[in-house]
Order: sequence, then C-alpha cells, then structure tokens
Amino acid sequence: MPPPVGIKEKTRSVKRYLRILEKKHRIGSAPGQATVLDQLILHLLSFEAPMTNAAKAVRMMREEFVDWNDVRVSSIREIATILEECRISIELAYQLKEILGQLFIHGHTISLEFLLEMEADTARKFVNRLRGLPGWAGTYLLALTGKGTVVPLDPHTFRVGQRLGLFGRKSTVQTRTQTLKSIVSSDDTLRFHSLLVEHGKKTCRVENPRCDVCSLARDCEYRRKLKKARSN
Ligand code: SF4
Repeated sequence: MPPPVGIKEKTRSVKRYLRILEKKHRIGSAPGQATVLDQLILHLLSFEAPMTNAAKAVRMMREEFVDWNDVRVSSIREIATILEECRISIELAYQLKEILGQLFIHGHTISLEFLLEMEADTARKFVNRLRGLPGWAGTYLLALTGKGTVVPLDPHTFRVGQRLGLFGRKSTVQTRTQTLKSIVSSDDTLRFHSLLVEHGKKTCRVENPRCDVCSLARDCEYRRKLKKARSN
C-alpha cells in the first residue's frame, strides 16, 4: 500500500495504526492509585527504557521514599541507585530532581493534581514555567490533565510519523503539529502518542529499524523507498 497522502487518507491510516499497534504494545500506567505526577514520572522514565522497568522504578521510589517531596530533597546518588537497578539512565535522576524542585518553587506543592481544576490557559502558562520538563512532556501533561489535545511531538513520534509519511522530513514543527491535529482525533491524542513511543523504542528504532518484523511495514514510506533503492 502506498503511503498516505491527503488529510482524509492520513486520518484513516492513523486509525489503522492505532488498531494494529494496540494489539502489539501495552501502554503502561503507574502502579496502584496513580496521581498525575506519578503518571508524568512514569512517562519520563519510560521514554527510552522499557515500560516494565519504568513501572518498577516508580514502585521502588514510592516504597523507599516517603513521598515525591522526599525524592526532591534526596541526593542524586539515592535516586540514581534505584534507576540503575531498573536499568534506566541515571541522567534522569538530575532531570527528576529539577522538575520536582521547579514544582516546589512554582506550585508550592509536590503534586500536579491542581492542574485538573485549572483553566486551560493558566495550566499552559504554569507548565511552560517548569524548567527541566521537555516541551513534548509539557504537551503530554496538558493532554493528561484534559487541558490540551495536541499530540506531543517527541523524537519517537516525529521519527515514526515521518517514516510512515505523515509529514515530511523538512517540515516545520508548526506544520507537523498542525498535521497531527488534523489527522488524530482529540480522543486519541495520548493513545496515539504512547503507542508511537512504544513502537519507536521497540521496532522503529533510530538505528536499524526492525522493518522485517514491523506490523506497519506495508504502509511505510521509508520501507518502500528502502526496498526500491535495494532493487535498483
Ligand atoms: S517499516 Fe521500518 S521504518 Fe517503517 S514504521 Fe516499521 S520499523 Fe519504522
């Protein structure tokens, strides 16, 4: 099948990708009664690592620290020890500390539940002030709390979307964001993002994408071009 071209065709393709990827990947959720902050941290920790490792790290931090404020005031070494045991980059200990510190400074609390009650504009301004939070994670947080429907344009989503032909390699961030807005239903924002992240980590990797076992291969522009180049 050739890659999707127009908006209608891309919209249909997105629905098909969701059906296919949902059968293949599990979208994780934080263990137990997950708060907004638990879910954000799980999302950040699982961005490069397997979801099961990230869930284990969140569980261990909950068990070993009193709460997220205790994580904030703990040493990098204490946090990194847990991340290391869960085979997650210890660099994330710095990012986690920074985000929790920012939350304390700007929100005066180590929680994000208040975003659920905020006006969308106020929530957006608050999230934009949190240093250490990548732009795509801020977009994720707004979608998670019902304050936005923009698909987070993280590196996995960009790479997989571009390879599938949803947007051009040289398109601007604005064009990509607008395209995703047009072709992904607002109800599917987080589902689409999470599934593309999982697909990007496990199959459509930066180096050596596993096209031979990819369930989206028949729709993929990158794969089609690669086959054509090999046959010439
Ligand atoms: S066929 Fe290859 S390039 Fe295309 S989505 Fe699958 S893994 Fe990525």
